[in-house]
Amino acid sequence: MAAALQTGGDIPVPAPVLAILRRLEDAGHETWCVGGAVRDELLGNVQQDVDLATAAAPEVVLKLFRRTVPVGIEHGTIGVLDDDNVLHEVTTFRRDVRTDGRHAIVEFGVSLDEDLARRDFTINAIAYHPVRHAWRDPFAGRDDLRQGIIRAVGEPAVRFAEDRLRILRALRFAARFDFTIDPATWAAATDQAHDIGHLSAERVRGEWVKSIATARSLDTLVQLWFDSGVTRTWLPECRAPNSSRDDVPVADRIATRDPVVVTAAFCSPNATIWRRFKGSNDEIHRAEAIDRAPPRPASAAPRDVRRWIAMVGAAADDLRTLARWRGDDSDGWSAVLDQIRLRGEATGRSGLAVTGDDLIGAGIAAGPEIGRTLDRLLGVVLDEPALNTREALLALARKAG
Ligand code: ATP
Ligand code: MG
Repeated sequence: MAAALQTGGDIPVPAPVLAILRRLEDAGHETWCVGGAVRDELLGNVQQDVDLATAAAPEVVLKLFRRTVPVGIEHGTIGVLDDDNVLHEVTTFRRDVRTDGRHAIVEFGVSLDEDLARRDFTINAIAYHPVRHAWRDPFAGRDDLRQGIIRAVGEPAVRFAEDRLRILRALRFAARFDFTIDPATWAAATDQAHDIGHLSAERVRGEWVKSIATARSLDTLVQLWFDSGVTRTWLPECRAPNSSRDDVPVADRIATRDPVVVTAAFCSPNATIWRRFKGSNDEIHRAEAIDRAPPRPASAAPRDVRRWIAMVGAAADDLRTLARWRGDDSDGWSAVLDQIRLRGEATGRSGLAVTGDDLIGAGIAAGPEIGRTLDRLLGVVLDEPALNTREALLALARKAG
């Protein structure tokens, strides 16, 4: 997609960032605005914090500012706190001396142009000087922004071999801006897509989650992951999006950007993915629940819906989102679920009008029998919510016990 660049030459830079830049330059260190914020400003997108790149060595930056945070000091990045405690990143011009496809060994004391040359894509390698209103754009990133092209800086095959995460970043930016990937960059990406298995799970998961959150179209994103071949390594459970039904792109109908739910829309089983990604326990548990639960109630009858909620527990909402996305809610069970919640009907032991202690007080022997009795009472209440009173349940418990 071609974009009309928003700039007439200037981009707005927040006053605290400008103050940091001036201080560095007054001390004799060339400093520029760089990276994602420059790109996004040119595209007219919401401002993210502007990163500064400077000739000053990290220890000089630490000395020039009173309040600093060594956020990524091994890569030359120092956070400078402004008067409102907002952190602004200042990174020393650097060159990546060596990489093993995962980690970079960096060297400082290089020029702005060298710093721009180590960046991944031309659209991310544009520098802007807010005092002199000057641009440094040695790879014509602004042209690629205008034409909607993701193009590696330098030789694509070399750049992807240095850091294969850049393949996933290319897909992410393409889906986010609806850009096309330049043929040479695409060829190198697909060529090396089979070789991303040694990336760390955390970095890959980070890209996947960020991509889901920012993609203009999820269908496009997943199609890119497919066509490039990266799914074979990291998401073999994934199916290609198919847009056959109703002419509506399947993924784009899903009404969430929750990564666990979106992933489940394309992939089955899911828990294997979140384990492979070294996801959080919460992500893994939610994925497991989606894998094993019946995807919807047996019917829209309230008792079936209550029984289903009792079975799936906290996964009910994720499963409902997925069912709606599949168009599997036309019989109205989703509205029934809302009514059940609105009426506050019991769908678990904790919703019962009696507790285990109540049962012991009523003479039922403490121990496993209590749990069994509560489950039996829940079964009754799921069928007949009106019986969920203390008196009725105690009577039932005594009778059966
Ligand atoms: P986002 O909006 O996702 O933050 P961004 O462009 O700011 O996009 P970051 O990951 O924040 O991306 O990185 C900031 C800048 O650092 C990028 O614009 C790019 O110039 C450079 N960069 C980041 N990751 C890489 C990488 N793996 N290889 C080369 N350059 C990179
Ligand atoms: Mg950024």
